Formats: sequence, structure tokens, C-alpha cells
Amino acid sequence: MRIAIIGTGLSGLATGWFLLQNPVLSSSIQLTFFDSKGIGGGASGVAAGLLHPYAGASAKLNRHGWEGFKSTLMLLDVAARQLNKPVARQDGLLRIALSEKQLTDFWLSSEKYQEVRWMSAAETTAKVPYLSPYPGIFISESITVDCPLYLEGLWQACQRRGARFEVSKIDSPTQLSNFDCVVFALGAEVNNLLTDPLPIKGIKGQILCTTWPSSYPFPSFALNSQAYIIQDKGNCIVGATYERGYKNHEPDIDRAYQEIMPKAKALIPVLGETELLSCRAGIRASTPDHMPLIKKLDARHWVITGMGSKGLLYHALYAENLVKMMISELIP
Ligand SMILES: Cc1cc2nc3c(=O)[nH]c(=O)nc-3n(C[C@H](O)[C@H](O)[C@H](O)COP(=O)(O)OP(=O)(O)OC[C@H]3O[C@@H](n4cnc5c(N)ncnc54)[C@H](O)[C@@H]3O)c2cc1C
Repeated sequence: MRIAIIGTGLSGLATGWFLLQNPVLSSSIQLTFFDSKGIGGGASGVAAGLLHPYAGASAKLNRHGWEGFKSTLMLLDVAARQLNKPVARQDGLLRIALSEKQLTDFWLSSEKYQEVRWMSAAETTAKVPYLSPYPGIFISESITVDCPLYLEGLWQACQRRGARFEVSKIDSPTQLSNFDCVVFALGAEVNNLLTDPLPIKGIKGQILCTTWPSSYPFPSFALNSQAYIIQDKGNCIVGATYERGYKNHEPDIDRAYQEIMPKAKALIPVLGETELLSCRAGIRASTPDHMPLIKKLDARHWVITGMGSKGLLYHALYAENLVKMMISELIP
């Protein structure tokens, strides 16, 4: 059976992996990935890497949060074994409550979920002395993923099981008429190839990479409030923007700096002493209910998209579910 997957972000590679894992399909499948920009050429290659099931402004447990988290852990392990090195670190996440709303939401979250630990302002500043003195919550299960490395490991694991990859832009599904089955895993670009558009909206996101002020030790965990701050190979990732109605997909370093840095400095004032190194941009695919979308379009075409800001949390779970749907149709 010849299967094509368009898109080699988190969604496409995870779908490919689960197809190749199926004991009935794996002996007969010929899987080819297509991506116009290379492995992880879309939002997945840009993602900051935060993975935990309390994502979102209010820090409530996300729908299918633990299920998604566990599925992703399994694929992180696949990639790490393939590369023979870790692709993520479990360093925890400190979410600081800067506003009254965050104070209420985070407190309620800590009361409700045992994995979410409330910390007073004295406790947060004891952990990070140069932090603005506010209370917050600590999520020790939170993981920071090295997304480009993870994607590379996942791709190599698929390749080892016989998958092929072509750097190629697909302009129409008819280009792939020699495949028995085609999966659209194009993220926010999905409607470019569909005659009946899906309810997907693109939201541009930008993150900055800066130096870290050398006189202050880097916290051993990620930080988040109205911006997030993550250690990345000795430098600092600061994110992110949420831009609707964007004009292009390119990084706009001035806009990103103006939007992100005041929020980051409210959290860690010494970030004002850093040097700006680079800016990355990607487009998130958002659905009306903020949950991913997997669907059979017709007898040959399937889709996985709508990961929004939580691609790391949901891609493995939804890819696995999509493959279950596909198998039940493809194997009578
Ligand atoms: C700045 C930023 C930070 C983020 N941080 C996080 C985070 O910390 N944690 C988290 O969970 N999520 C984060 N996200 C969200 C996450 O990146 C996405 O949810 C996820 O990457 C979506 O994966 P995907 O595979 O569905 O789409 P994509 O990664 O966008 O993949 C789609 C692929 O399709 C390819 N493609 C498109 N059109 C064509 C075509 N015509 N022909 C061939 N190929 C094509 C693209 O090149 C691309 O590689 C972030 C997003 C952004 C923008």
C-alpha cells in the first residue's frame, strides 16, 4: 500500500510513525513524506518546546491532557533511542501570577490538581532571587523539548522502518494520484489543498533568542507568566506573540521585541541587560474549539491539523487516533 503524508511537522511524522508501527500494514506499506521546506519546516521547527498538561492562560488541566502527555512521552523516547541521546529534559515550570486574574486562576488550579504546587512570593524568589516578587505555581512534570532534535529523531526512526522523504511542494492532491492514500498534515496551510475548507485560522507566533546576563545563574526550570523564558543551549528563548491578521510568515524582529520583551522583563527585570540574537516565526493552526482536528475527507484522503499552541501535547495522541481510524478503513 502506497501512502503519502504531506507535511513533516509533529503531526505528519507522528502519523507516519504510528502507520509504520501497525503490524498488519508495516509489511506492505510504502510511506513517503513530502514537505516543501524540509523536516520540521513549519511551526514545529520553531516551537519553544514547552510540554505539560496545564497549558493555557488559566492553568486548568487541558482536555485529554494527561493522555496526550503520555503519548508524547512515548514518542520522545522513540526519538531519543533512535539518536542515542535525550531530546527533552524534565526541568519543571514555574508560572508566576502577575495579574489578579492569574492569581485567582493559579490558586484554584493548585487547589484542584495535586501536580500543581502553590508557591508564595517568598518561595518563588527563594528559588530565583532576581525574579519579580510574585507568587505562582510550580509544575514539576513539565518538560522542555528540543523540537528540531526530536523531529530529527522521529524522522530517522521512520526512515529506519523504510519511509522516504522528498523535499517538494505539493500544489494539488492530483500530484499524488499514484498513492493509495494521502494524509494532509500541513498545519495552518491545510486549506491551500482542499476544495472544502476546514475551520482553521492561522495565528502567527514569534519567539526571540537572547543572551543570558552572565552574572545571574540560569534557573534550572522554565518560567512563564504573560511571556515564557526557557534556557536553550546557554542562551534564552523568550516568547511568544499571538498575531491574528498577519501579513506574512516572516520574522518581524521589531514587532516581536516590542510585544514580548516588556512582558518578559516584568518577570525578570535583568533581561533588559541581554543582547538580542535572533527571531523565529511560525504559524499555529487554530480551530474554533481549540482542539486538534482529525478527519477522513474521502476514500483516499485524511487530515490531521489544528494543533494550535499545544502541538507537543496533542500530536502523538491525535496521530495515534487518526491511524486507528485509517486502519479500520484500510484493512477490511
Ligand atoms: C512561536 C511558536 C512557539 C510555539 N511553542 C510551542 C510550545 O512551546 N509547545 C507546544 O506544544 N506548541 C508550541 N507551538 C505550537 C506548535 O508549534 C504547533 O502546534 C505544531 O508545530 C503544529 O504541528 P503540525 O505538524 O500540525 O504543523 P507544522 O509544523 O506547521 O507542519 C506543517 C508542515 O507542512 C509543510 N507544508 C505546508 N504546505 C505544504 C505544501 N503545499 N507542500 C508540502 N509541504 C507543505 C510545512 O513546510 C510544514 O513543515 C508553538 C508555535 C509557534 C509558532
